[in-house]
Amino acid sequence: MLKKAYLNCSISQALAASALGLTLLSACGSSAVQTATEATAPAPAAVPLLMDEPIRPESFAQWRTEFRGFAMEQGVPPELFERIFADMEPDPAVIRADRSQPEFTRPVWEYLEGALSPQRLGTGQRLLVRHAQALEAIEQRYGVDRHVLVAIWGLESNFGNNIGDRNVMRSLATLAYEGRRPDFARTELLAAIDIVRNGDIAPENMLGSWAGAMGQTQFIPSTYNRYAVDFDGDGRRDVWQSSADALGSAAHYLSASNWQPGQPWGMEVAVPGGFDYSLADMSVRKTVSEWAQLGVVKVDGETLDADLAERHASLLLPAGHRGPAFLILNNFRSILRYNNSTSYALAIGLLSERLQGEGRVKASWPTQDQPLSRSERYELQERLQAAGFEPGGVDGILGANTRQAIRRFQQTQGWPADGYATQALLKALRAQSPQQPQQPLTPDS
Ligand code: CA
Repeated sequence: MLKKAYLNCSISQALAASALGLTLLSACGSSAVQTATEATAPAPAAVPLLMDEPIRPESFAQWRTEFRGFAMEQGVPPELFERIFADMEPDPAVIRADRSQPEFTRPVWEYLEGALSPQRLGTGQRLLVRHAQALEAIEQRYGVDRHVLVAIWGLESNFGNNIGDRNVMRSLATLAYEGRRPDFARTELLAAIDIVRNGDIAPENMLGSWAGAMGQTQFIPSTYNRYAVDFDGDGRRDVWQSSADALGSAAHYLSASNWQPGQPWGMEVAVPGGFDYSLADMSVRKTVSEWAQLGVVKVDGETLDADLAERHASLLLPAGHRGPAFLILNNFRSILRYNNSTSYALAIGLLSERLQGEGRVKASWPTQDQPLSRSERYELQERLQAAGFEPGGVDGILGANTRQAIRRFQQTQGWPADGYATQALLKALRAQSPQQPQQPLTPDS
């Protein structure tokens, strides 16, 4: 399932997305882009498969001429256009990254281990002290918890130490010329030109990830234009060099993404025996008191907080019913607007708590389960489709329809219907219909 909307894409997030066999184009945009959602498996992979057929028949020079005409219509000054594009050539590394389709993915617990490393935690704690004044002011203006902001800072760019070293104009021009989502890249390229026209930064200093995510909180240009702020008051918005601007901009973006001040992102919970695991899905929302009536308690066994009783929440099982369970609230969804990966949002939530001495996951992860590879995800969907469970297409992405199909199959087996794909599940499907589907199935078949 491809679903619209995504958001921030730092290098780490591109890796998180690639876990789904996808490549994120970019960051923190309210702009609609196709992306995988409901991502639970993050992290990079070792074996990129490259598609090497050319996408565009025209030359880069031809593309530039055509784009120049369009840019002139948009009022871009010719001298600025020449300054940016004069000697530009496509960046082959950007194309390689855009077309990489990793075969293997890291399990969510390994992703979290990296995201919540002692080093990141220690740096975050030092920076909370060092930037206390700015963070206090940002909290007052936007109502976003400083620990969440520092967690985002840590995951997006390792606190500004990894903001990307590629020229954003060149990356986006490359992607507009021959990327997989040329229209999106073209829109972002025009947005990047707007940033330069506004005088925030010189085009040659506009560095970012291969996908065009910029600065310490990895904003794509359109998000930058809408949400970046000059928090330190020096007269320009600078998410590259000014931590206050970057953190203030991230807070502004979360605030605009329906952040509710003072509310938790969620919490680890425990569910009773015999629980109906088909309720554990981001699409199922109940009030906290309704979850309590279903027997959901805090992981330590205490009842759920009464002051959250009327809040809406979903039950998240990042590694299926044998792993930890989390009740996630509104602010988790705001973090998803920053980067539409549940693993990422979970990492941000937990890191924000670790920074305050908490945030340890109590239940154990099913570390004997290895995530399905890209080929296995295709095979799973093909077999579900062939067996009539209607996974909604065969695209290697385990979205809502595939999870529903898995649940239908699990129910026929008398298994807990958590919708989670495991090797055991694939094995059971293979046993049911030993023949591989004869014809490759298309998403529409
Ligand atoms: Ca500034």
